[in-house]
This record gives sequence, C-alpha cells and structure tokens, in this order.
Amino acid sequence: MATSIEQVLEGVPTGLFIGGEWCIGTGNETVPVVNPATEDVIAEVAVATPEDGLEALTSAAEAMPRWVARSPRHRAEVLLKAFELMTQRVDNLAHLIVLENGKPLADARSEVAYAAEFFRWYAEEAVRNEGSIVTSPGGSNNIVVLHQPIGVALLVTPWNFPAAMATRKIGPALAAGCSVVLKPASETPLTALAIAAILHEAGVPAGVVNVLASASAGRFVGTLLKDDRVRKLSFTGSTEVGRLLLADAAQSVVDCSMELGGNAPFIVFEDADVQAAVAGAMVAKMRNGGQACTAANRFYVARSIEPEFTERLTMAMSKLVLGPGWEGQSDVGPLINGAAQKSMGEIVASAVKEGAALEVGGSQVGRGFYYRPSVLSGVHPTASILREEIFGPLAPVVAFDPDDDVVVMANDSEHGLAAYVYTRDLARSLRVAEALEYGMVGVNRGFVSDPAAPFGGVKQSGLGREGGREGMREFTECKYVSVDWATASDSRGW
Ligand code: NAP
Repeated sequence: MATSIEQVLEGVPTGLFIGGEWCIGTGNETVPVVNPATEDVIAEVAVATPEDGLEALTSAAEAMPRWVARSPRHRAEVLLKAFELMTQRVDNLAHLIVLENGKPLADARSEVAYAAEFFRWYAEEAVRNEGSIVTSPGGSNNIVVLHQPIGVALLVTPWNFPAAMATRKIGPALAAGCSVVLKPASETPLTALAIAAILHEAGVPAGVVNVLASASAGRFVGTLLKDDRVRKLSFTGSTEVGRLLLADAAQSVVDCSMELGGNAPFIVFEDADVQAAVAGAMVAKMRNGGQACTAANRFYVARSIEPEFTERLTMAMSKLVLGPGWEGQSDVGPLINGAAQKSMGEIVASAVKEGAALEVGGSQVGRGFYYRPSVLSGVHPTASILREEIFGPLAPVVAFDPDDDVVVMANDSEHGLAAYVYTRDLARSLRVAEALEYGMVGVNRGFVSDPAAPFGGVKQSGLGREGGREGMREFTECKYVSVDWATASDSRGW
C-alpha cells in the first residue's frame, strides 16, 4: 500500500512537549520543516523561548526524584515498551525521517531499528548499574562505590540521524534515573517529537522527558546551561559548536559528553582484498549520503593497488541511483540543505584547483538539494580537502608509497572519531588499530556503529562515549562511601 505524505504526518506532534503535555510555547512562534528532496515546507513546528526551556527544566527537576524512586526493573520495562512501539512503527517513523532528512527509505528503516535498539540495550543495562566494594589496603575500612544518577540532563542533537541521536542519549539517561530536556536540530524536529509521544505512550511519567525545538539554539541552550539545576550536557554536533558549549558549561562546571565532528581516514594496504575494500568504502562513505560523523573522509590507498581501487570505487559511485528517498528506489538522497549542496561544489572546485582529477560526479542535480556522488583521484597528501569534514558524497583518494608512514598521515588531524583499515595481515591490522589516534577503528569493515559498543572520539572529536556499558556511566556520578565494618565493637569481634 502506497504511503502518502499526509498519512505519515497525520498525528505527528508539532508542539513543545513540556511536563507531559503538548503546548505552543510562550513565543507563539513556529519554524518551517523543509523536505530536502523537494524544497517544500512539510510542517510548521512550535519553537521554544528560553522561558519555555526553563519551564521544561522545572518539570524535569520536579519529575526526577519520582523517576529515580521507581525500581530499575520498572525503568527497564518502560524502555522496553518504547523499543517495542518504535519497532512496530518502523515504517511510519522511517517515512518521517525520509521526509525531513532526505535519506533513502532503506537507510531510514535501518536508522529506526538502530535507534530503537538503544531503548532495548539500556532497558537491559538499567538493572545492571553495578558498583564495587573493596577493603582498603590498610584493612581499617571498606571502600563502597556507587553510581548514582547525575541529575537533570540537557540533550542537544543534530539532524543527520534524527532518531538515533535522540535515543542514544535518552535511553541511557532514563536507565540511569535522570530526567531530560532535549533540543533537537531545527531541520529535523519531527522525528524527536514523534519519539517523545512514543515514550509518553510507553509510560514515561510526565516531566521525565521534555522535547523542545528552538529557533535560536545558542540563546536557548545558553540560558539552560546557566541554571544550576542542569547537571549534565550531552551534545552531538559540530566541533565548532561543541567548543562554544564547553566554554559555556565551564561557567557552572557542568559535566559534558561531546560527540563532535570527524575526519575519518580509510587505509587500504597493498595486501587488502580490493573488492572487499571498495564494498567497505561504499558503506563508510555513502551511509546517509556521506552525512555521517563516521563517514570515510580520506582514502589512503597503497600505490600498487590504487588504480584498481579508484576504478572500482568510481564504478560503484557512478551506479548509485540519486533520487527522493521516499520512493525506496534511490541509493542516495539529497543533502540536508542548500548550504550543504553549495559547499560540495566549492570543495570539489578547490580540490581540482589543487591538482586532483574528478573521476565522476562533481555537479548538482535539478530541484532538491542533490549532489552527485563524486570521486577525486590524485589528491596530494597536503590538499585542503583532507583537512576538513566533507559531510557529503565526495571521496578523495590519495596514493601512498611503501616509504610513507600512512599512520602518521592518518593521524594528522585535529579530529579522532573513526578510522578504517583494510589488510589481510591480522597482526598489521591490530598494530595499526592501536597506533591510530581514533576512538573507533573498523578492521576490514566500513561500519562501526553498534548500540552495544562505546561510540565516541578522541582529540577534538569529543569527550565521553555513547552506547555500550560506558553510555550509562555518562549519566551517573560516582560516589565513594567509606564504611568502617572492620572494627569490632564487642569482645567476640562483632
Ligand atoms: P551543529 O550545527 O553543531 O548543530 C548540532 C545541534 O546544536 C543542533 O541541535 C543545533 O541547533 C545546535 N546548535 C547550533 N548552534 C548552537 C549554539 N551556538 N549553541 C547551542 N546549540 C547549538 O551540527 P549539525 O550541522 O547539526 O551536525 C553535523 C555535525 O555533527 C558534524 O560535524 C558531525 O560530524 C557531527 N556529528 C557527530 C556525531 C558523533 O557522534 N560524534 C554524530 C552525528 C553528527 P539548530 O539545528 O537549531 O541550529
């Protein structure tokens, strides 16, 4: 049965979700949500003033003691219910993501499955918040370590994975016993609002989850960060904005988790299976049309196999079908907006000016923010394209010689999120993985995201981890209790 835009949007909330209720906010203002495939406005969404944000914060602060008092098992069951609801509604949520983000339907379905999995994973973790007990070395007392919920968390998410970036924060926060105020990206607020409705339906009490879009992110987030009821900032977005928020958070010494930009190197050694490397390169480069923080940004290929790699990659990129994600027949959708589309043209022009050859792509297409998948070969190791996060469907290929230290080349970046290595030599893959200054390394695979794994970067790619056991720790504070049960109070030693 064909799904219409009206059917998908029917019942999707467009207000602010504060204290378990939908409202229009004190500013009575809205922002348009644009379909990047058509450039049409598909909805108007209410945006919050800083005062609305403070009201949400009050709701969250009041709700948190009651949420913490619920048993871990109860919190787990609510999260599990949210997982089930998301899974039942995968089709509708996927179409909603396609509408506001533009990614192909298959990618959107995978995102919903991945996003829902954070609720299931943290339902399982909620009942495993283990601490520790150690006898002090001197034997005089015991060291009891507890992990308590950190407090009200302010969550800020980007547009590239509108469902997964929200659930990757809400899941562990709720499992730990925190309440949250989430500000989704203004380009893609609808998915986050739909998830808020699902959490409400799953039994999350009023005030525990608040979701508010904003048209003035800096002022909104800045106001909330000044309020000392916020004890945690969990941000996913650009390194540039992350730096600003770290400076703001320093004023009230708020604990920060930062998932920031990447510039992933993709290294192919001369002994690699070239066909498998190209298949991995397509996954690492083209998921979400290249708009992923883990996207392969620089391809370093051993010179002896570089011509074959580039030819195969060019062939694979030229076969991709560009078109509206909605129809389910395209491999690549539009970019998020006109600025992103323009930036692709500028990056390609500058790379060609610096000596690269354009093998395929290099142009915009029709209406909608499309840019053709592009391969640039003969890129010089010092070219400026290798220093910036491309965030689109461009693949620059650099050939390296046996004398080159490719690990040094790969590490030459302010970023350190994800890296990829292709080689048939297991020992080499592990040596290289150890030496790469990156938080995540894919060995003979172009995909590293997994709800059960600690996702995150080093250097200016961020602080902290999301997913895995580590993800819930980000929403807890460690407390040490020094207990004296070693000293007896009666003559029998009791
Ligand atoms: P962005 O411009 O930094 O925006 C991210 C979020 O921050 C949005 O909600 C945005 O709100 C908000 N924001 C913007 N300026 C702000 C300010 N001055 N103060 C407070 N909040 C502010 O990033 P983006 O363009 O949405 O996302 C792309 C970036 O995110 C890329 O660099 C990518 O690598 C990174 N990313 C990282 C990860 C990771 O896990 N490491 C995952 C996904 C994406 P508005 O939308 O309202 O402006």
